[in-house]
Amino acid sequence: MLKDLARKWKFALSAGLLIVAVFLALFVISSKSSVAIVSLTFDDASNTQYNNGFQIAQKYGLTGTLFVATEMVNLRESGTDNEWTMTWDNIREIQAAGWEIGSHSRTHNRLSDQSNAQITDELRGSQREIEAKTGISPVSFSSPFGNFTEDIIARVMEYYDYHLSWKGHRGRNPAARFDPSYIGRLEVTNDMTPAQVCGEMVRAAESNIWLVVLFHGIVDDEAGEYEVSAEIYEDILSCTKILQDNGLIQVETVRNAAQRLDRRRNSLFARPPKWLQRGRRQAED
Ligand SMILES: [Zn+2]
Repeated sequence: MLKDLARKWKFALSAGLLIVAVFLALFVISSKSSVAIVSLTFDDASNTQYNNGFQIAQKYGLTGTLFVATEMVNLRESGTDNEWTMTWDNIREIQAAGWEIGSHSRTHNRLSDQSNAQITDELRGSQREIEAKTGISPVSFSSPFGNFTEDIIARVMEYYDYHLSWKGHRGRNPAARFDPSYIGRLEVTNDMTPAQVCGEMVRAAESNIWLVVLFHGIVDDEAGEYEVSAEIYEDILSCTKILQDNGLIQVETVRNAAQRLDRRRNSLFARPPKWLQRGRRQAED
């Protein structure tokens, strides 16, 4: 009788241990298989981003998010600017290759200098125009010059799902609890090496970070301020591709990455409290 009981307990204990072991293994497997998401973003829709940024990304089969200031494109189309900006045809071609088109306002002026009505025009006006020109209403907005206040962020979030800062927390957004109204970016500047940028991607993979990278001009000759050389850019994309091919990172547009992380967050975790979501969100210009 006592022996029977002991045998039953032993069975229950080993069954319990087995269940714990299976859960542990599943946990380890699922945490090991979590791949860091990296998003490549481009502000301003300059010609160099079409000629180099987009074309080189095509070579490596990578896509990104292009933030367009609509009035700058219209000025180019009307022949009144110096062809610094790409055309709507260029933008549609980039979109057709799987890129996301986001808004970078209408006029690329500082939002905090503008009236409420002007801010609405910058936000809603650019959104409507991008939808008219590309057929898709943008969900991501990048503030010109990283110039925003808490009030402006609130206005942006009336129209868009995601607001991107210029260089907030060096692009390291915690995947499990990123702030949709303040997605930080790592701006690639002309003093950075490809190893530094790819090192950030490896670190992201180690620490469950959604890394959002920002490029401005991608020039053929020597890179000035807000520019990188096409050569350095290609080296960065080449190692990005290697990291992706080896399953360490997954390159996705901001919209796709954020929507996927949102779904994951909503299914696994409760939404984090507001105070946790709101880190440092001061203007950056
Ligand atoms: Zn800009």
